[in-house]
Amino acid sequence: MTTQRSRKVLHIGAAYYPEHWKSEQWLSDIRLMQELGLSVVRMGEFAWSSLEPSKGNFQFEWLDQAINLLALHDIRTVLGTPTAAPPAWLVSEHPEILATNEEGRKVQFGNRCHYCVNSTAFHEATAKLVKAMAEHFGSNPNIIGWQIDNEFNRVCYCEHCQALFQEYLKEKYKSLDELNRRWTTAYWSQTYNDWSQIPIPIGPHNPALMLEWKRFVTRSYRKFQRMQIDLLRPHLREEVWITHNFMGWFDGFDHYEMSTDLDMASWDWYIGMGHNEPVFSSATHDLTRGFKKKNFWVMEIQPNTVNWAKINNPLYKGEARTMAWQAIGKGADAVLYWQWRSALNGQEQFHGTLVDQSGQPRPFFEEVKQIAKEFRELSSVFEYTQVESRVAILNDYESRWAISWQKHHRDFDYVALLLSYYRPLCQLNIPVDIISPDQSLEEYKLVLAPALTIVDEARIAHLKSFVDNGGHLVLGARTAVKNRDNAFHPLRPPAFLTHLTGAEVEDFYALNEEVPLQGNWFTGTARIWAERMKIIDPDSTLPVATYGVSNGWLDGQIAMTIHNHGSGLVYYAGAYLDDTAMFAYLKRVATNAGVQGLFEAPAGVQIYRRVRTYDKKEVFVIVNHTRMEQIVKLDNNTYDDHISGKRIAGQIRLSPYGVAVLTKTI
Ligand SMILES: [Zn+2]
Repeated sequence: MTTQRSRKVLHIGAAYYPEHWKSEQWLSDIRLMQELGLSVVRMGEFAWSSLEPSKGNFQFEWLDQAINLLALHDIRTVLGTPTAAPPAWLVSEHPEILATNEEGRKVQFGNRCHYCVNSTAFHEATAKLVKAMAEHFGSNPNIIGWQIDNEFNRVCYCEHCQALFQEYLKEKYKSLDELNRRWTTAYWSQTYNDWSQIPIPIGPHNPALMLEWKRFVTRSYRKFQRMQIDLLRPHLREEVWITHNFMGWFDGFDHYEMSTDLDMASWDWYIGMGHNEPVFSSATHDLTRGFKKKNFWVMEIQPNTVNWAKINNPLYKGEARTMAWQAIGKGADAVLYWQWRSALNGQEQFHGTLVDQSGQPRPFFEEVKQIAKEFRELSSVFEYTQVESRVAILNDYESRWAISWQKHHRDFDYVALLLSYYRPLCQLNIPVDIISPDQSLEEYKLVLAPALTIVDEARIAHLKSFVDNGGHLVLGARTAVKNRDNAFHPLRPPAFLTHLTGAEVEDFYALNEEVPLQGNWFTGTARIWAERMKIIDPDSTLPVATYGVSNGWLDGQIAMTIHNHGSGLVYYAGAYLDDTAMFAYLKRVATNAGVQGLFEAPAGVQIYRRVRTYDKKEVFVIVNHTRMEQIVKLDNNTYDDHISGKRIAGQIRLSPYGVAVLTKTI
């Protein structure tokens, strides 16, 4: 094992709530943390009533004491702002702080995130507390980062939010005539005569209204988050980062926009019932890394079990270790277990912990001890490394919302479709970034847009420029159907992109039975969705697949195309492919783009790579996500396995749930 000492790159930690315990009990907890090998704890994110027990009565000494005691045991702190848990005294004084639900009722105090994100009184109380915390804790050298709030998620339907929404629309559209025109409000006599008539959409409504409401929710959270960042930042040392802990594929707001003001993204990774699905989890890591296009943290992960699933089963022994290394391989620099110790009371009594209510380690503790040891000893191997990809999948919240509101087929799920494109690339161990369609595409050879249904001029120009520069672009079903008002383009799809595809969509069909598909490189079926394509530029466009006999409308018609555009190549896949066909299709697409997998690996083994940019040092993390021994064939180089301490050539044998961390032998 590498023993070289250096800057700590990999962190392992837990969420700790000293406010649940008498201070005399902290020392035994912290000694156990040190024994376990934790390097960081997150504290404070629900502690408002302990930090400010009554208005303006700030009580920070207890937290100073906890931070210092932890530091004495070589454990650093991530401090959360406690705004996810506004206290009873504040809610009593300002009942309007409580959010209003869809039925128009105030939500109940005491279940977290019970606030209206736009409440003036809440903003004022937050500003006072966060300012005081910034002034008091900002220069503390033992705090390495801050987390704003916790898992933003609530949507408020109060009159104040509605009024602000109307103001936002007025500012954007300037005139009601403009809004009425762009929203086609003549439909069902929705025409607005006054801004105050515009509702908050509840359930299905005008698509433009629904999209604007989502933008407004994003804007509201961003504003609230930004206020806290602006209060904190002037008091923090330069190297201290600010994050928010997102929740994977949750789509309550646009995560790219929310990440703009953060230094780093992080996410809370829970399996719930069952076991880790490595492909899905890899995609979620890639998604989170894409929010800032840089390394991230897993701010919460389950210590064996949760308390909220239908069956709160444990992970298999050894599974947590594979998950921890999967996260690191995908670009995480930290894994923090939620939580350290079972509180005696409170809503989450039965959630997994590292230490039980008696203060004694649970059996799972030993597994984390091994992970902590490995993280500590291998930290320097990962110094300055990050994931590098030549393939990007474009993920767009607006397109996702637009499709989810008008799925047209109950099984047409935006994320599932995106994952159907992701899965073959993952199986081929091809590194993939999942990014916003508005991010730079310069570093990519291959870009896939599974269902980029909303495009405007800027996006069209962006995609065109990528292909003009020789990029290979794959467009999936429902591409370029709508504009930023969630209105149809007055053209056949993919509107304004047909000069790139050389083909257009004549019609689309939701499928209640699978349709056979004959491809040039594969045979298979279309499921859920099928578009009937028409080639409009026959000189440089070829069909890639045609439909077999089915409903008559699709018989013998073109399902997929390929178009030469200068030095670039554009694919259009109008069919929602079965998994086998998709694998064959994308394998060929990747080969055409000159994109290769890292190593070939058997099913259930994933290979991740982090690269140190300045000298191109590569670190491979190989994780056997199966409970059987597996063998991975390597290339002609010899490698050092930093976990086993062995030198490897030819192949590597991985025990059940085995992990290897390889660098080329120098
Ligand atoms: Zn509200």
